[in-house]
Amino acid sequence: MLGVYVHVPFCLRKCHYCDFYSRPASGEERERYLDLVCQETEAAVRQVPEREVDTIFLGGGTPGLLGPEGIKKILQAIAGNFHIINTVEITMETNPGANRDIWPLMAAAGINRVSLGAQAAQERLLRVLGRCHTWQEVQNTVQAVRRAGLTNLNLDLMYGLPGQSLADWQETVAAALALEVPHLSLYALKVEENTPFDRWEREGRITLPEEEEWAEMYWWAREKLETAGYLNYELSNFARPGFECRHNLKYWRRQPYLGLGPAAHSCWGNVRWANPASLEEWEAEVRARGWSGQLVERLSEKEILAEQVILGLRLAEGVVLTPEIEAEWSAVIASLKQRGLVQVSGNRLKLTRQAWYIANEVMAEFI
Ligand code: SF4
Repeated sequence: MLGVYVHVPFCLRKCHYCDFYSRPASGEERERYLDLVCQETEAAVRQVPEREVDTIFLGGGTPGLLGPEGIKKILQAIAGNFHIINTVEITMETNPGANRDIWPLMAAAGINRVSLGAQAAQERLLRVLGRCHTWQEVQNTVQAVRRAGLTNLNLDLMYGLPGQSLADWQETVAAALALEVPHLSLYALKVEENTPFDRWEREGRITLPEEEEWAEMYWWAREKLETAGYLNYELSNFARPGFECRHNLKYWRRQPYLGLGPAAHSCWGNVRWANPASLEEWEAEVRARGWSGQLVERLSEKEILAEQVILGLRLAEGVVLTPEIEAEWSAVIASLKQRGLVQVSGNRLKLTRQAWYIANEVMAEFI
């Protein structure tokens, strides 16, 4: 079955660390975007290998800015062109602090999972990040979302921030746990090029925690959350059993997904596509061709296998150790096993616990 990702490229303002494609927009721009995304949906259905959809993810950007009517319009366009199964997971990312009355309408529009960018429990750190909300608004939004019957909730939290101590991080994780959401995503800050953080770091205006401090934050949180009953089912993601994000699992299990909207990506079989990462170029492509996806690459058999291993190792369940994978990387796997970085359990290859923090180095051996 297919997953559908819709990129909504609008935010109230840019956070200081963010390099996702998003920008502020007028009401008129948002309306135009909605018409175009519906047009693109109609055209995309002729490109994809299957029409049964079991996950939809509205990401961004801040999809909540489209309001319940905008969200409904997108979901109706998908429903009108694809077959959405009854048990579909429909996630919407948004920021805390939105109008609290919208949640019953979002639920009525079809949203059944909400992902909130919470990031930190300290107002001073939220200001450093350039976030446009307070922790009180995180708490209020979680309550409002729940009151609307939406219980499948995620909070994004960030560690390794400028000026963030271990005690700050512990306070953030504890505050998130107190909200009893079933899913938490913990992201280490990565300073991306051409962001204010990038410039400020070069100018010496911000200082990031040392490597050991990051590691301590990661391990502390992991133990705390596991003790509280969360599974660290993917490197950065923790869920109570049954609340894993089904859409994101598709990426890591290398299952097919279609991307709609500017800067969205698609993948099925051995091909990968990318939509133009500019609202203007995307609009021109949709008007000219319908679906804006442009072929990025056709993968060879070996590249597909490597991708399966690299993505699968991100997961606690690991990757099925097929004869093809064994034949291709037997020496690499033997060496990683000897160093205690991977293990074989049943027919699956997995990272060992100690390898999780250096997962990228382990994965690099399969490239
Ligand atoms: S709200 Fe999210 S997408 Fe928008 S600027 Fe901030 S981090 Fe980026």
